[in-house]
Amino acid sequence: MRLSRYFLPVLKETPSEAQIVSHRLMLRAGMIKQSSAGIYSWLPMGFKVLKKIETIVHDEQMRAGHIPMLMPTLQSADLWKESGRYDDYGKEMLRISDRHGRDMLYGPTNEELITDIFRSHVNSYKDLPLTLYHIQWKFRDEVRPRFGVMRGREFYMKDGYNFDLTKEDALHAYNRHLVSYLRSYERMGLQAIPMRADGGPIGGDYTHEFLVLADTGESEVFYDSDVTDLSFGDREIDYDSVEQCQGVLEEFTTKYARTDETHDEAAFNEVPEERRRTARGIEVGQIFYFGTKYSEALGAKVQGPDGKPTPVHMGSHGIGVSRLLGAIIEASHDDKGIIWPEGVTPFHCGIVNLKQGDDEADAACNQLYAALTAAGLEPLYDDRKERAGGKFATMDLIGLPWRITVGPRGLKNGVVELTSRRTGESVELSPEEAVKKVA
Ligand code: ATP
Ligand code: MG
Ligand code: MG
Ligand code: MG
Repeated sequence: MRLSRYFLPVLKETPSEAQIVSHRLMLRAGMIKQSSAGIYSWLPMGFKVLKKIETIVHDEQMRAGHIPMLMPTLQSADLWKESGRYDDYGKEMLRISDRHGRDMLYGPTNEELITDIFRSHVNSYKDLPLTLYHIQWKFRDEVRPRFGVMRGREFYMKDGYNFDLTKEDALHAYNRHLVSYLRSYERMGLQAIPMRADGGPIGGDYTHEFLVLADTGESEVFYDSDVTDLSFGDREIDYDSVEQCQGVLEEFTTKYARTDETHDEAAFNEVPEERRRTARGIEVGQIFYFGTKYSEALGAKVQGPDGKPTPVHMGSHGIGVSRLLGAIIEASHDDKGIIWPEGVTPFHCGIVNLKQGDDEADAACNQLYAALTAAGLEPLYDDRKERAGGKFATMDLIGLPWRITVGPRGLKNGVVELTSRRTGESVELSPEEAVKKVA
């Protein structure tokens, strides 16, 4: 992409309404624009990162054997009345009525709808296990929408639902989700720690939230510092293997790590003092096994091997796709701007032409652009007639991992300058070598 042809409405001033750094940087980098409280338009660069995150989530869900689909944003209230949640959900649910006076709502989550789909089409245990998911906009009328996309009212979420014959099978589905979430966050360059969370009125130990440590996080967390040394890495995993998935769950959830809702001072005190940590975290996902709560309420039963109708065991599993943009920026920035991890960066490499209009410099930039593209990368070429300082400031703000600077002086010696956004280090290289280094 050539910057002169792109739409990147960078702000010079720091927006005063933004209280935290990720919100400020997303506004300044021209990624989002608020349309009303907690509701945003995604401008091209914000949209691009959103799609990259979405793609990683899809990839990892499909790798785990989960099946993508799409449910609507607007739902009829009938199913929610049937499950009893129409009244329970309270003011966070946006209720609408259509021209015929029928009660509708903008879905805050999809347990009812998916259970209805399931009960309409699945009758036998032979069709299990089944895990369906979608990535769709949700609406929750949050009391205090704030921090930009971090706590929106309209937000993008992946929510998946498993249907299993037995509790054991459903717990295997739970573990598959834990593994696939660990992989997803790591591909985004994030460490998200699974922490024991509160099962709410349903209770039980079978829910974990994934938290990114950050001072601006809304949750208070308590953990054994050993958990920050864990990483999934690029190890192979067989998602069909109950032992392997259970092994990962044990590896990642045995050490103490809890949110304030489930924090237990006595258990925490058993962690050696020098490893006890109290911090703040951003919830970027949650997995939940809830047994037969919805299948009983909505009559989602299958014929078991004994011929008897049995309510299915279910769980629901969410990732905050749009919140993740904020979380990634909170975890990865400096005073000049964003520092995108490679896995989610909107463009792989910036090209800064120090002397736009100079034949040689223009030609060298065009060649670099072509070579990067041929290597399967997406460059962003700042071809505007601007001062070098302004171009560098924009590149630093939008945080691409690499910048290649091209100017007549270097070209005389056959070199361009390659700069890493993360380390700030620059090296002079031939254009060919620079492309190799980025790719
Ligand atoms: P929170 O505690 O932050 O209100 P939640 O526990 O209500 O979140 P879940 O129902 O677990 O949210 O939804 C799954 C994921 O969706 C959350 O882990 C979070 O990442 C994301 N999410 C929830 N509410 C919002 C919101 N208002 N704006 C952006 N993302 C959200
Ligand atoms: Mg909430
Ligand atoms: Mg929560
Ligand atoms: Mg949650």
